[in-house]
Amino acid sequence: PDGHDGSGQETRMTRLDSAIRRLTAQRDLLDWAAQNVGPAGLVLEIGLGNGRTYDHLRAKLPGREIHVFERSPAAHPDCYPPEGYLIVGDLFDTLPPFIERHGRGSAALIHIDIGSGDEEANRSLARRLSPLLEALLQPGGILLGDRAFDMPSCRDISAETKVPEGRYFVYRRA
Ligand code: SAM
Repeated sequence: PDGHDGSGQETRMTRLDSAIRRLTAQRDLLDWAAQNVGPAGLVLEIGLGNGRTYDHLRAKLPGREIHVFERSPAAHPDCYPPEGYLIVGDLFDTLPPFIERHGRGSAALIHIDIGSGDEEANRSLARRLSPLLEALLQPGGILLGDRAFDMPSCRDISAETKVPEGRYFVYRRA
C-alpha cells in the first residue's frame, strides 16, 4: 500500500511500463486482427506516424491492399506504402472522396491510431470520424482503435481479444 516493495523500490507503473503495455496491446491486437480479418476487402491504416504499425500490418497481411492515411508524412523511410497507397491530407478531406471511389462497405479492417495528448480534442475527433469509419466497414469488418468510436451498427468486441480492457477498442460491424 505504501507503493514500495521490500527492497524500497517504488511499485507504481512508470511511463516506460505504460508505453510498453500500450505497444504490446497494439501488437497483440494487430496479430489478432490479421488472424480474424475476412478474406476480401481493403485494409486501412489511419495515421501513419513513424510507420511502426503499418510495417507490422504489411508483414502480417502479405498480398493485402493496405491504404494509408496521413496528413503530414514523416515515417521511417523503410515504412512508406507503395506509390498510390499513401493518401496525404486531413482525414475529413481525404476520407469522403475515398469512400466515393471505393464504395461504402469496402474495408475489411481499419486500424486507426491518431490520438494526441489532448483528450477533449480526441473525443471530438472520434465523434466526427465515427460515421465515416462506420460507412467504410463491410459487414463483419473489424475496426481497431486507440479510442472509443460511436458506431451504432458495430459491436464492441474488445473482450473477445484478450487485450486488457481500456487499452484499445475493437469493433465488428454487424
Ligand atoms: N500507429 C503509428 C505508428 O505505429 O507509427 C503512429 C500514429 S501517430 C500516433 C498519429 C498520426 O496520425 C500522426 O502522424 C498524425 O499526423 C496523424 N493524424 C492525426 N490526426 C490526423 C488527421 N485529422 N488527418 C490525418 N492524419 C492525422
